[in-house]
Amino acid sequence: MVRNTMQKDITYSTLCMLEGHPTAEEVYEEVHRKYPSISKATVYRNLANLEEMNLVRRVRKVGSGPDRFDKNLHPHYHAKCVKCGKIFDVTANISEDIIGSVELMDDGKDFLISSYELVFEGICSKCNAKE
Ligand SMILES: [Zn+2]
Ligand SMILES: [Zn+2]
Repeated sequence: MVRNTMQKDITYSTLCMLEGHPTAEEVYEEVHRKYPSISKATVYRNLANLEEMNLVRRVRKVGSGPDRFDKNLHPHYHAKCVKCGKIFDVTANISEDIIGSVELMDDGKDFLISSYELVFEGICSKCNAKE
């Protein structure tokens, strides 16, 4: 039996090894290949822990598809290819004050904004080349 802290280390290092923004399922499959004794529930729980510890970032699903996990903690945005579903890290010159500029369209209701998620969509170069 692999100990708890080790299981978390394994989950984290596996996530870092996988390219891009893997889903929990993809992380689990990779962990399972090397450590068949680690259960899916453990990997999912470890990913949630790592997120709480701010070691990974969760990229919430946009439209369809599961949440993904991101080891890149630097501020960045994501661009999703609508053909292959791959997610890319992008930078964009967006004002830090974007939250401050948000106003509710229904008047008289306070809404305290804590965060936001921006995802660009398009076609990646690989898919574009296939056209
Ligand atoms: Zn693509
Ligand atoms: Zn990212």
